[in-house]
Order: sequence, then C-alpha cells, then structure tokens
Amino acid sequence: MEIIETDIAIVGAGGAGLRAAIEVAEADPNVKVLLISKVYPMRSHTCAAEGGAAGVVKDNDTLEYHFNDTVGGGDWLTDQDAVEYFVNEIPKELTRMEHWGCPWSREDSGKVAVRPFGGMKIMRTWFAADKTGFHMLHTLFQTSLKYPTIERLDEYYVTDLMVEDGRVHGVVVMEIRTGKMTLVRAKAVIICSGGAGKIFPFTTNGAIKTGDGMAMAYRAGVPLKDMEFVQYHPTGLPATGILLTEGCRGEGGILVNKDGYRFLQDYGLGPPDPWPRLKAMELGPRDRLSQAFWHEQKKGRTIPSPWGDVMHLDMRHLGEKKINERLPLIRELSRLYAGADPVHELVPVRPVVHYMMGGIHTNIDGATPLAGLYAAGECACVSINGANRLGSNSLGELLVFGARAARNAVDYVKSTEYLNKVKTIQAQAEDAQSRVKALFQSQGTESVPGLRKELNATMEEGCGIYRTEAEIKATCDKVTEIRARYKDVKLEDTSTVFNTDLLQTLELGCMIEVAQTVAVSAFERKESRGAHQRLDYEKRDDVNYLKHSMAHFDPDGDPRIDYLDVVITKSQPAERIYGAGAEGQVV
Ligand SMILES: Cc1cc2nc3c(=O)[nH]c(=O)nc-3n(C[C@H](O)[C@H](O)[C@H](O)COP(=O)(O)OP(=O)(O)OC[C@H]3O[C@@H](n4cnc5c(N)ncnc54)[C@H](O)[C@@H]3O)c2cc1C
Repeated sequence: MEIIETDIAIVGAGGAGLRAAIEVAEADPNVKVLLISKVYPMRSHTCAAEGGAAGVVKDNDTLEYHFNDTVGGGDWLTDQDAVEYFVNEIPKELTRMEHWGCPWSREDSGKVAVRPFGGMKIMRTWFAADKTGFHMLHTLFQTSLKYPTIERLDEYYVTDLMVEDGRVHGVVVMEIRTGKMTLVRAKAVIICSGGAGKIFPFTTNGAIKTGDGMAMAYRAGVPLKDMEFVQYHPTGLPATGILLTEGCRGEGGILVNKDGYRFLQDYGLGPPDPWPRLKAMELGPRDRLSQAFWHEQKKGRTIPSPWGDVMHLDMRHLGEKKINERLPLIRELSRLYAGADPVHELVPVRPVVHYMMGGIHTNIDGATPLAGLYAAGECACVSINGANRLGSNSLGELLVFGARAARNAVDYVKSTEYLNKVKTIQAQAEDAQSRVKALFQSQGTESVPGLRKELNATMEEGCGIYRTEAEIKATCDKVTEIRARYKDVKLEDTSTVFNTDLLQTLELGCMIEVAQTVAVSAFERKESRGAHQRLDYEKRDDVNYLKHSMAHFDPDGDPRIDYLDVVITKSQPAERIYGAGAEGQVV
C-alpha cells in the first residue's frame, strides 16, 4: 500500500478543520499538515449555517453574561473552565475572521451588527445576513489557500485511525474516485469530522453527517461523552427538515398554534411582550421550545400536515424590506420548499434533529486520552454545550477549539518522532483494506437503505424529544440487533469508481456505533436535563447525574457507560429560568 507522510493529519475540512489547518500553518511553517475531506471543503456542513456566531462586542454586554447564558443554557453540564476560555477567545476569533475577509452585517454606523438568539439574554450574535456559515467557510477556505504547508486530499474517505503503543500514528484513506487505499503516516491526528444528525430520520443535517470521526475515535478506545444529548431545533420545514434559522425569531418572528395563539407563554416562557423579548417566548432555548411543541401536539393544538404535525412561524409583520435584507435565504427556502412566502403567509415548521451536544471526549486543550489524537468542532465534546447548546455558540466553538487543538498538536509533534514500527502500522492499514475488500465479497442478505431506515425509525421512537425507560430499552435492543445484522450487509455496486454504495455502507457502520452510544447513555441517565427529557424521571438530579456520561467501545457487546465529574468553577447549579423572573440583564 502506498504511504504518504505528514506531521499532522486533519480529518475534515469544515470550519473546525480549516481553522485548525490555518493555525498549524501559522504556528510553525515547518510542520506539514494534510487536510482530508470526504467532500470538497466548501461542501462541508458549516456552509449551511445560517443565523450567526455569538461573541461579546457591544458595550452593554460582558463576558460574564455570555458565560452565564452558556452555562445555564447547558443546564450546568458544561465544563466551566472551557466555557470561560471560549467566551474570552471568541470576540478575538470573530474579529480575526473580519480581517480575513468575512463580510459581517453592519449597523448604519458601520459597526458590526448583532441579533438576538435563543437563550442569549442579550444581543450578541454576529451574522452575515442569513448565510453566516457560507461566508465563514469561504473566508476560512480562501485563507487556507495562502499557506503552502497545507496540503489537501479532497474527496478522500478516512476509514480508520492507526493506533500502536497507546499512540496514534496516522489514518487510512480511500480515494473516492478510484477506491484506492493509502496509508497516511502522521505524528498527530485532529478529528474535525462534524456531527451525526443522520442517525435520525428527520434532520437539518446534510447527508454527510454520519458520525464517522466519532466512530473512528470510539473504536480506537476514546470514550464518547454526553451522547444522549441530541438537540431538536424548533423550526425545521416539514418534508425536508431544512432549517429556518433562529434568526427568524431573533428578527421578531413569532410561533403560533392552530388557533393563532402564541402558546409559548403557557410553558414558562412568557409574557408575550415587550419587544425585544430577549429573555422570553420565541427566544427561549431550543430544548424548551421543542418540548413546548410536543405538549401542544398532545393537546391537539398543532396543525396536521402530510408530513406530520406543524406549528406556524409568523414573520409577516417584519415587512418585505427587513425580510429581504436580514433573511433573504429564509424567504427563498420557505417559498421553494414550503410554498409559503413569509412576507405574506404563515410558514409551517416543526422540531427537527439539529445538533449533537456530545462527541469525542477531549480536555480543554482539544486532546483526547489517546496520545497524539485531538478533536474539535461538532464531533468533539470539550464541553461548552452541556445538556443543551445555545444557538450561535457552535460556529464560535469550531474556531476557538479548532485553533487550540491545532496549537497543542503542533507542540506535540515537535516533541515526538514517528514510531519506527512501520511494518506494524502497514499491517494495520492492510487489515483495514481487507475489511473493505471483504464487503465486495459479501454474500449477505441485509441492505444498507433497509438497515438505515430501521435505525432512523428506532432512534426517533426511543430517543426523541421525550423519552421513557421502555421506549429507550426497545431502541437499545433494536440497535444491538441492527449492529449484528450489519455484519451481513451486501453491496449492490461492486465497482471501484465513485462507489457511493460502498461509502454509504461504511458510513452506516459508523452511524450504528454512534446511535448505540446515544441510546445506551440515554437509558442510563435517569433524570431530565436540557435536551434529555424523561417522562419517568421528570426532575434534574444533581446528586446522581451532575456528571458527564462516558461511553466506552466494546467490539462484541454494548457500550460500557461510566461517568466523569463536571468542571464547576464559579456558577453553582441553579434553576433555569426564562421569561418572567429571569436574571435581570440589561438589554
Ligand atoms: C442547517 C444548519 C444551520 C446551522 N446554523 C448555525 C448557526 O447559525 N450558528 C451556529 O453556531 N451553529 C449553526 N449550526 C451548527 C454548526 O454549523 C455546526 O455544528 C458546525 O458548522 C460544524 O462544523 P465542523 O467543522 O465541526 O463540521 P462540518 O462543517 O460538518 O465538517 C465536517 C468535515 O468532516 C469531513 N468528514 C467527515 N467524515 C469524514 C471521513 N470519514 N473522511 C474524510 N472526511 C470526513 C467532511 O467532509 C467535512 O469536511 C448549524 C447547523 C446546521 C446543520
């Protein structure tokens, strides 16, 4: 097998991967970096981000406010040292993005504009109209092109991490165009492979978000942390799951039920006015809004549609000028995919799986317990999001921790030599290749689309907005069954050129591992916190569960779960209050 050598291999060229690559190049031009992505970088999911990135910039805001919103929003499951570092760094990162060319939207005065966002009790979300991720990713990509030390493998799929003597030594990649596999020897690997929303049937996530990097690290012995916390975004378009950004509500859009009533006021999120309603109603956090929809549905107050029940998002009062200026993409998407023009009509929306709070366990340096392996962005759990991420914290997270993981990886490679057991690593890579080849020979009876559909269905049944012991148990059993049946999967396409059947088979293997950690961690957490709501354990239980769940891989059995203490520095757990009675922060 051909061998490529680099110092740092980065798996994923989305926001986190590109930011990490740039940081390596800036930190030391002698350190070689190889950026590997299964899609062309600009097709990474970061491109789809709409609403914005939060960072303190205005005089009425403070780092402490951002810290408090994030820690409380995460239901105190965040690591507070990481949150503190994050809120301190993000304004610098967003300013750096400006210098690299990111076209942030402006106030009339020329200063950077900010918009309100859910759970942020003060306006601090920077945005570039409603195409923030698109502009951020372009900015990062064009900046990365300046550095000769950044090399890329576009449209290469990483199948495995190479691990020997308790250290990582590189990855095996498959060129998607030809099916050819190559060993990439590296002293350090940074996984920036994004989330895993595709384990659910109805999601805002792009088709590539199949949890590959999470599964890779997990199989290599690194625990996956807090996987039971899956975020539903309250406003996805029915049928497609396409997101209508929280910016719609940030700009003043309201949510109503079938009677045209702003029902959120019945769920501790009122009172309805005055504007700007930063602490309340439509700008409550995502977990609370999605849960309120569920209750309305049970009460028969949602609106039936061919794609399940919906509520209405009303933006008509914002007027055409504001909608065109601040939410042009939202207007386009609503017209195209829901046949509703927000300037004149109500837009049907419903909660949709959006984001994984959990991921590869790292410390505040982005380092995993496996020497030489780092992770950043949505695939990682560092953890600043706790039990519920606040909208607009994720784009910031990938900058801040992408850069930090990279700096630490540079320090690591400078003090490390390649392991000279080339033969052992080659043998590992050949094993990985044999496993892929075996798929071509399989005479099994299971189909990839069939298994994926069953996996999606059971995840929604047992690990949805509200969960019960019996339902989660049924999902755990079903995923165990699917995992066993996956061994009998058969390829329909046995060619080597652009074999998407093969890719989807490999991705499904990753999705199953990730789904199992979600279900088993959810089963074990017998409390309700943030996005993990159990009807049989309705209260938060800080005595027993103010802890991170850690899922450990077992090749033959279910994941083993143990727990890790949460880092609490200055904010003691308290009740999460939005609406009336919420902490008084000046607007
Ligand atoms: C529709 C939508 C809107 C959003 N809006 C916002 C917002 O307004 N504000 C906010 O803060 N957050 C938002 N988010 C969340 C945020 O955009 C994501 O969490 C973030 O962009 C993830 O970035 P990332 O770099 O970690 O991963 P991604 O951008 O998903 O990139 C992952 C990379 O990994 C590569 N990869 C994966 N597996 C492999 C493999 N096996 N081999 C090789 N390469 C691989 C992919 O090719 C890709 O390059 C939104 C998310 C969605 C889905």
